[in-house]
Amino acid sequence: NRCLMWFRADLRTVDNTALIQACQKYHSVLAVFIATPEQWASHDVAPIQIDFMRRRLAVLQSQLAELNIPLRIEAVADFNAVPDCLTTLAHDWQAEHVFCNKQYEWNERQRDMAAGHALAEAGIKFSALEDTCVLPAGSVLTRQGESFRVYTPFRREWLRLFQQSPALAQPVPQPVSPYDCADRFGSVIETNFEPSWMNYPMADSSRWPVEENSIRDALMRFCIEHIADYGEQRDFPAVEGTSKLSPYLAIGALSARQCVSAILHEYPHAIEKQDAGPFVWLNEIIWREFYRHLIEAYPKVSRAQPFVGWTRQVTWHSDKAALARWQQGETGFPIVDAAMRQLKATGWMHNRLRMITASFLTKDLLIHWQAGEQWFMSHLIDGDLASNNGGWQWAASTGTDAQPYFRVFNPTTQGKKFDPNGEFIRIWVKELENVPDKYIHTPHEWSGAASLEYPTPMVDHKLARLHAIEAFKQAKATS
Ligand code: FAD
Repeated sequence: NRCLMWFRADLRTVDNTALIQACQKYHSVLAVFIATPEQWASHDVAPIQIDFMRRRLAVLQSQLAELNIPLRIEAVADFNAVPDCLTTLAHDWQAEHVFCNKQYEWNERQRDMAAGHALAEAGIKFSALEDTCVLPAGSVLTRQGESFRVYTPFRREWLRLFQQSPALAQPVPQPVSPYDCADRFGSVIETNFEPSWMNYPMADSSRWPVEENSIRDALMRFCIEHIADYGEQRDFPAVEGTSKLSPYLAIGALSARQCVSAILHEYPHAIEKQDAGPFVWLNEIIWREFYRHLIEAYPKVSRAQPFVGWTRQVTWHSDKAALARWQQGETGFPIVDAAMRQLKATGWMHNRLRMITASFLTKDLLIHWQAGEQWFMSHLIDGDLASNNGGWQWAASTGTDAQPYFRVFNPTTQGKKFDPNGEFIRIWVKELENVPDKYIHTPHEWSGAASLEYPTPMVDHKLARLHAIEAFKQAKATS
């Protein structure tokens, strides 16, 4: 008996719920990945993330080969074409069942519903399993049975449920090789590993290793060497204080379960010591779960809607020149510019800087958060709808449990606090390399400013702050 394992954002053989089920229930498993370049373009998927996935797929292919599971790569235009593609493949392969792990984003859910119908019509079973979160979306609810809108009570309930069933943190078993051998699969597996979707624009992701050992070592090294200091170091972009595992979590090369199980392996009492580094890190994994649960419970969030309805009335500025200065890191605020230049050059940005730059765009420039969300998505190697949208709506004060609109980050003060000597700024804003520490956050006030080829601040923060607060107040009053 035969089945198909459909890989999407779960590019790993280790701790993969759908894969283990497929292997346990069927003798022959064929794996498939369906590239959808036009869909990716409409979702603004970053070229660096596509390159990263392409490299990871090659690793996945060889890992699967060790299990006697061939990986076939298909390419269609977009999600509309997926049900046909999947049904044809399942039919040709005489598969009785298609397995995959659930995705919570709206378009992905619509695609899966259509795929399920098409497969059912062809008499083929379809199972989409819970895998992307430690606690499945929909399982962490208020006493009234509703989804949480606020993080802290969500976390409390998450921890309560988790402590009741600590087995939830155990990675699922490693699949064993199904019985059939690859060479019995015939023409179905003759796959071209460099298909047409390779024409999708690519950016070099080779700084990020994709081999299984490298990813596992990075997780273990972080848990052994850095996690204890995470609470103190995580906000300083010049310090290697965070795990940098988000790219792997985003494409599913690593699972949240693996992260939680690694924490508890090194620090079995992590949950009891809530001010220590291991718990602070676990807290971030729970934030990731919170945003995933939100997009599942409130589909409007992944359909370009603000969570808080009245914020639709905010009169955003549509200033293309200002947006371009933010995108290119030419705002005249050194910490903002360093961060934006780092993003463009590397596809990466530190969490503190994501908060500062997002606040600058949405408050100081009063530009719509969706412009920022889109720019981040199209450049980040760890681009992820739930976390990116969650982060943007938090910073823009349009989201659930967001930063209140009257609390506006001061980019200069943030810079002074989190990059005191400008160590990070000097890496990315070369024009400021020789500015004395005292003026690194306010170079226009330095006596040598005239010699700098660096813009003066594009806004007066104090005025911009008042303007933003007023715009939000008015929106609230008129709604
Ligand atoms: P660590 O500090 O080591 O945290 C461990 C893991 O926890 C991360 O890998 C990530 O999966 C999760 N995590 C950490 N912080 C958050 C958070 N605030 N929200 C949700 N999950 C979190 N994260 C993405 O994965 N993809 C995005 O597209 C994304 N866009 C963002 C946009 C904005 C405006 C903001 C403010 C945050 C965004 N984040 C996003 C969240 C966060 O910035 C990154 O997850 C984090 O910087 C990744 O670095 P790390 O792996 O070293 O994190």
